[in-house]
Amino acid sequence: MIKYETVIGLEIHAQLKTESKMFCSCDNYSVDAKPNENTCPICLGMPGTLPVPNKKAIEWVYLLGLALNGKIAEKFNFERKNYFYPDLPKAYQITSSTKPPVIGGRVEIETEGVIQNIRINHIHLEEDAGKLIHPKLGEYSLVDLNRAGTPLLEIVTEPDMRAPREARIFMQDLRSILRYLSISDANMEQGNLRCDANISLRPVGQKELGTKVEIKNINSFKMIERAIEYEVERQMELLGENKKVVQETRGWDESKGKTLGQRSKEEANDYRYFPEPDIPPLEPYSGKEIDFDEIKAWLPELQKEKSQRFINEYNLSTQDAEILTSDLELSRYFEQTLEELPDITKNDEIKKQKAKKVSNWIISEVLAKLNLAGISISDCKVNHKDLAELLDKADHGEISGKIAKEIFAEMFETGKNSEQIIKAKGLSQISDTGAVKVMITEVIKENQGPVSDFKAGKEKAFGYLIGQVMAKSRGQANPQVVNEILKDLLDKE
Ligand code: ADP
Ligand code: ZN
Ligand code: MG
Repeated sequence: MIKYETVIGLEIHAQLKTESKMFCSCDNYSVDAKPNENTCPICLGMPGTLPVPNKKAIEWVYLLGLALNGKIAEKFNFERKNYFYPDLPKAYQITSSTKPPVIGGRVEIETEGVIQNIRINHIHLEEDAGKLIHPKLGEYSLVDLNRAGTPLLEIVTEPDMRAPREARIFMQDLRSILRYLSISDANMEQGNLRCDANISLRPVGQKELGTKVEIKNINSFKMIERAIEYEVERQMELLGENKKVVQETRGWDESKGKTLGQRSKEEANDYRYFPEPDIPPLEPYSGKEIDFDEIKAWLPELQKEKSQRFINEYNLSTQDAEILTSDLELSRYFEQTLEELPDITKNDEIKKQKAKKVSNWIISEVLAKLNLAGISISDCKVNHKDLAELLDKADHGEISGKIAKEIFAEMFETGKNSEQIIKAKGLSQISDTGAVKVMITEVIKENQGPVSDFKAGKEKAFGYLIGQVMAKSRGQANPQVVNEILKDLLDKE
């Protein structure tokens, strides 16, 4: 039997989060807008209007190109891709796939400890189309052009992935890069990160690529893996029966769990590409329009670098560093909380100890609560200052670790700070030796039996007496203080 190898290449669209659209000044953010509210003659495709390219969108494509080690093309040209569809009023899309702004590049992915380079073919910039809405019982369709003309990045990979899992990891890494660069929300569920997967099989050892099938409609990370797995199985079965794979576009149907044929190569469109006559070609190196020094200065520390730094600088475990850097905002929250703690720069050892504490807290308390509430750190009511204040109180024995967790739960719910909650509930730990002494004296008086047991050498009785004092203080006495004073007073008995 012939053994086959899976070959996958991805075409990814990411919506850029610029303020305005790609070629007009309409608001690019339409989540709360009424249908067709964010439109103008340019994005409605009225005759006689002229597109003006959004400089930020172009700079961001170059930023991504630099982050992925791609080559900036000498010349960059918009072009028209002609086709008819009701969500495209101009009957052409302005894109740039033939003369793209960025050529080549790579993303390093890691699967089961193996590092692999996934090469990028090119990155280009284009505008999105509108949306068609098909009312359930209606005999008509509606069109909403708020999305028409919003800036889209397209990232095309080389066919370098060999397993569905690799495709998912690539997409997750790319999402992280887009978010760290702050150029896209890159949320698959919300549709601002989308992916088409090209899949083919070839006999192991064969150089030439097999016939590919393109899958559209993939809109979650889970789906990427499932849809590709299904398609690999389907092609494997065909080849096993000596049938041919037909080059076609298939759509992933999540409810059926299969890919379904949409259109084959014969029906493919001829888009009659030609250069966009209304926008002059851009020569990025002319120094007139694009300042690459400025763009390079925007390049932030990306997730992998940050994660490695957290391991080196704070001595965190690989797993904890990965969790904390999985979200840029979360990584900031961690470092800001840490910086807010007093004495933090005194010496490395203290910093590492405190970092471990803050990391544990964020992972086991903050993240657990965020996940339960289904929100992200940017919607967390507890800001880094309030968290630092709470952790500092626990550190100094003003409250016990257990009480700190209870206070945090309330901070998380109400947005109040720890001071307000401690005052309102009288929760502060009693470290005042005078108050503790009074309680201990009472406990000794009331428990003469255990006191003489202790005197007779029964160590267990000491623990019992501690328990009595803690109960009297309703858990608020500082255990260390109780321990010391109890020993002291028992010695004098
Ligand atoms: P098309 O002209 O059909 O758009 P391209 O050559 O531009 O095809 O490639 C589009 C995407 O498909 C790229 O991500 C590429 O890596 C991938 N691809 C191309 N050929 C194959 C193949 N035989 N198997 C899997 N992926 C492929
Ligand atoms: Zn507009
Ligand atoms: Mg192509």
